[in-house]
Amino acid sequence: ALDRARRAIDEHARMVADFPAPGIDFKDLTPVLADPVGLSSVVTALTHGCRGIDLVAGIDARGFLLGGAVARELEVGVLAVRKGGKLPPPVHSTSYTLEYGTAVLEIPASGIDISGMRVLLVDDVLATGGTAVAAAQLLGRAGAEVIGVAVIMELDGLGGRATIAEGLGADLPVHA
Ligand code: AMP
Repeated sequence: ALDRARRAIDEHARMVADFPAPGIDFKDLTPVLADPVGLSSVVTALTHGCRGIDLVAGIDARGFLLGGAVARELEVGVLAVRKGGKLPPPVHSTSYTLEYGTAVLEIPASGIDISGMRVLLVDDVLATGGTAVAAAQLLGRAGAEVIGVAVIMELDGLGGRATIAEGLGADLPVHA
């Protein structure tokens, strides 16, 4: 499954220079998810050997697509970690620093009880790791515990893994 996933990523991922800002090498994995072999091989590779998960949390927005498919494979539910201002109140909210400016992530604070749940955090790309750490802290405030991070692609040289180790503990598995 890993080889199939790698081939699908090589074939379909689209690299866009200087988007959304100069100097950023944007990895658009949308075409990987849109491809039947791409989606299924990536989900199989990411969930292989994964157990003890109660809930998948997918990060806005490609993490929603991937998270839903991963959750179905693991036979658990999925929760969307949204950008600020999309959810009706009450919400748990956190703001964190990006390379340029700040961002806000939110999850519902009513209607679902995720306290005590063991959560797999899913996104398409791990860059600096700031988003993953903020999302995990947010889920922690709702009483859940992130016990793993799964992404399709990890970007070298941005320190994402180190940031996760620092923010969430060196023992937290990061699967890319
Ligand atoms: P970070 O917080 O820096 O790890 O950024 C992670 C989030 O931003 C993920 O949701 C990614 O989808 C997105 N992202 C950051 N950098 C890139 C990039 N170079 N290519 C594609 N997506 C990116």
